[in-house]
This record gives sequence, structure tokens and C-alpha cells, in this order.
Amino acid sequence: MAKTPAKQNKQPGIEAKMQPAPEYIKDSYRASGKLSGKIALITGGDSGIGRAVSVHFAREGADLAIVYLDEDVDAKETQSLVEAFGRKCLLIKGDVKKADFCKKAVKKVVGEYGKLNVLVNNAGMQFPQKNVKAIDPEQLDTTFRTNIFAYFYFAEAAMDYMKAGDCIINTSSVTAYRSSPSLIDYSSTKGAITTFTRSLATNLVEKQIRVNAVAPGPVWTPLIVSSFDEKKIKDFGNETAMKRAGQPSELGPAYVFLASDDASFITGQVIHINGGEVVNG
Ligand code: NAD
Repeated sequence: MAKTPAKQNKQPGIEAKMQPAPEYIKDSYRASGKLSGKIALITGGDSGIGRAVSVHFAREGADLAIVYLDEDVDAKETQSLVEAFGRKCLLIKGDVKKADFCKKAVKKVVGEYGKLNVLVNNAGMQFPQKNVKAIDPEQLDTTFRTNIFAYFYFAEAAMDYMKAGDCIINTSSVTAYRSSPSLIDYSSTKGAITTFTRSLATNLVEKQIRVNAVAPGPVWTPLIVSSFDEKKIKDFGNETAMKRAGQPSELGPAYVFLASDDASFITGQVIHINGGEVVNG
């Protein structure tokens, strides 16, 4: 019988401890300078989907700043992966639940690089509960502050610096589009992110700042091994039409597309990367 990958007991999880290790970029990926000269800030950029975005952006010529809570090992690894492509990677450690921290992080990026072209709102947490009554006020507060309030904080702070041609990309989730009985609060924040994306997009259209989102299905990341129980980890991804979880490497190229000029006529939209929907009957 196949061995169940190890569960971690604390969020955020640590990518360096994951077995099997997630794949953050495919060997077959070919870059073409799509983000050359751009400066990008990626929240949750140290691991999982955020690491894949960081590495793809660096391959495409962007210099980066990544925000993370406390996973220094993962952040340093992502920094060295980015630097290996000759790009810069500023590490900013702190809590995105705090508006003041988010504002200072954006200022730090502009202080370092002189501008900010791409904001990727991606940090997130989830706390599965079988019973709605188990979602206590503290959990509700943490989930909403981390997953959606912070997206507002960063977008608001970025407005002082973003110009025509710049863009915001938010990480939503498949759980915003189908029911998720054990993630009621989490899926609610993801629904909010989708709506935030649409409304902010039309609000910023005159400034020529595009706002889009990616809605991942099950993806093999630290979030999964640090939040789900062993059975869910073992079966993770089996619910998709492809009957497998995705790898972060399968998400990174969509963020590149949305960040680049190739997506110049796209705003307020969501790209769904989820292994296909299961149709019964
Ligand atoms: P991950 O654990 O690698 O990333 C989560 C990141 O959020 C970490 O880098 C962590 O530092 C950061 N973070 C969490 N709380 C924070 C806080 N208070 N302050 C600062 N940073 C904080 O996992 P991931 O799966 O790559 O998650 C990235 C995004 O993808 C999340 O928004 C998640 O909801 C979304 N998503 C993931 C899946 C999946 O199956 N993995 C599916 C749908 C959506």
C-alpha cells in the first residue's frame, strides 16, 4: 500500500518538510521575457502556489518581493531559486491580518525598487470543521482577516503606486464555485475574493489597472498537509475529473499570463485550474 504523505500540525505548513515535494516549475517551461522590467509583490510567495508564481515570474524577468508569515526556511529557498535566475527577491516577514503591516510592506517594495507593477494577493489559511457551530468567532476572524481583509489592505496600499498597465491577481478557490461542507468560512472568503476581483476590476478600469483571479482546485502544497486530516491528505485530488491533485507548477503559467501584456483585454475574470469537474450520470 502507498505510504500516506506526512501530516503537519501547524499552519502555515513547511514545504521543505513535504514528502513528496511539490513541483514548482516544469522542466519543459520556456520563458520569453514576458515580465521583463516588472516589479511584483507576492503574498504567501515562499511556498506552494506562491513559490510557483515567484519562480515563474523570475524566469520571465521580474524582480520580486515576497511576503510570508514565519516560514524562514521556505522563504530563503524561494529567494535562492529566484536569485539563481539573476533576479532579486526581497523577503518581507509579517502578518497580513494587520493593515499597518500590509501598508508598510508595499512601501518597502517601492522603497527598494522604485515602483510596483504586479500585486499577487495569495496568502491564505483554512481550518476545516465538520460542524458549523465549531467555527468560533476567533476562527471566523482569522479566516476572514487573512483571506480577504488582507487582499483589501494590499490593494488599497498599492493604489498609491500602481499606474496604467499594472495589475492585481487574486488567488480564489474552486470552493467559491462548488459547495465545501467542511470549509464554510474559508469558501465564503473565496467567494468574496471572486466578487472583490470583479468589482475592483470595474472600479479600476479607467486607471487601466487590470484585476483578475485564479481559482485553483486541489493543489499539492503546505496548506493541504497542515490543515487536512490524514485520510483527506491521502485521497486529496481524487474528486476531480482527472482523479489527481494539481502541482503548483501547473498554476504558475496562468499567473504569468494574467500579469503580462498578453492579457491586456482581460479584467474581472477568473481562470479555473482544477483538473476538471466531475459530472455524475
Ligand atoms: P501555502 O501554505 O504554500 O501558502 C499559504 C501562504 O499564506 C504561506 O506562504 C503563508 O506564509 C501565508 N500566510 C498565511 N497566513 C498569513 C499571515 N497571517 N500573514 C502572512 N502570510 C500568511 O499554500 P497554498 O495552497 O499555496 O496557498 C496559496 C493560496 O492558494 C491560498 O490563498 C489558498 O487558499 C489558495 N488555494 C489553495 C488550494 C490548494 O489546494 N492548495 C486550492 C484553492 C486555493
